Amino acid sequence: MSAIRDLIATLVAFDTTSHRSNLDCIRFIQGVLEEQGAKTRLTFDDGGGKANIHATLGPDDRPGVLLSGHTDVVPVEGQDWTSDPFRLVERDDRLIGRGTADMKSFIALCLALAPEFAARGLSVPLHFAFSYDEEIGCVGVRRLIADLAELPVKPSLCIVGEPTGLRVVTGHKGKRGLRCHVHGREGHSAMNHRAVNAVENAARLVAHLADMQAGRRAGGPHDHGYDPPWSTIHTGLIQGGTALNIVPRDCWFEFEFRTIPGESPDTLMDELRAWAATAIDPAARLEWTLLNDTIGLHMDDQDEATRFVAALAGANDTMRVSFGTEAGLFREIGIPTIVCGPGSIEQAHKPDEYITLEQLAQGEAFLRRLMDRICLSG
Ligand SMILES: [Zn+2]
Repeated sequence: MSAIRDLIATLVAFDTTSHRSNLDCIRFIQGVLEEQGAKTRLTFDDGGGKANIHATLGPDDRPGVLLSGHTDVVPVEGQDWTSDPFRLVERDDRLIGRGTADMKSFIALCLALAPEFAARGLSVPLHFAFSYDEEIGCVGVRRLIADLAELPVKPSLCIVGEPTGLRVVTGHKGKRGLRCHVHGREGHSAMNHRAVNAVENAARLVAHLADMQAGRRAGGPHDHGYDPPWSTIHTGLIQGGTALNIVPRDCWFEFEFRTIPGESPDTLMDELRAWAATAIDPAARLEWTLLNDTIGLHMDDQDEATRFVAALAGANDTMRVSFGTEAGLFREIGIPTIVCGPGSIEQAHKPDEYITLEQLAQGEAFLRRLMDRICLSG
């Protein structure tokens, strides 16, 4: 346990808040895995300041298991921490620090057990995929996924170790965030017949989004594995105008779709655009910007991958969750993917984020059961 704790402390000490470089952290992970004989490959962002790592232990000519996580963490600014967020502290059977739950403890467990996986000999490859920029919309992992898609033999299972309290998560909603900028025409408010009011047109669009939400809530489609069971549509920000006596030229708002299986954000967007084409002043110009796009995850409970992970976790049931992960992206390239990892999402993103020692021990047991299944010797 102390080796695991030391690794968590080391990983927490790298300040990998999404806007910063994660290269020191990635190089550290690379060093640990290469020491065990892993073949590693980094994929970088455009500026070269951030990277994903894909590492493989064992044979690479057959399907294997992929353990996946993200190295970035959410900001600590404005949060009321009782200790330095980037220095691991143990208190009341908890390890406290930014990323302890989400999700550096899982990465530390992978690194801590890698020597044993290697020493016992792997019958199938064990892959590790650790990404950057997950917290800002699963941005970084796409380059790693593109790389994985090129592999001659792809993994037959991916476990995303996000904190689920080791419950077996087979689904989450898809999420797409967008900004709409309404470009109107400025004018004096006394002469508003010669102007185009951006705020009023934006308000119509926002009201229509609320109507779309109400329609889905009342009339479906519904999937009762989710809370709430319908696709949610929400506007979170709006800004526009300069003064009361000026017809506003600009207004923009940000909204999101969180879709259940069977509903596509493309279809919702088409519905919104079609309505806008008839209801919005044709002199107003609408500019749409994609802010983030997380593909939903939908795995069958009877799938072999689901049952395999349930056995590792000692779980009798599966669940769906409301938070998004990178899992849908792995699933999209044909890798059966389950979300299951130690710690609680309740503690993620909060001040004094923690993982309990008990969850950590359970996470270790989970990976040891995987070891028993895919290693040659006991
Ligand atoms: Zn996470």
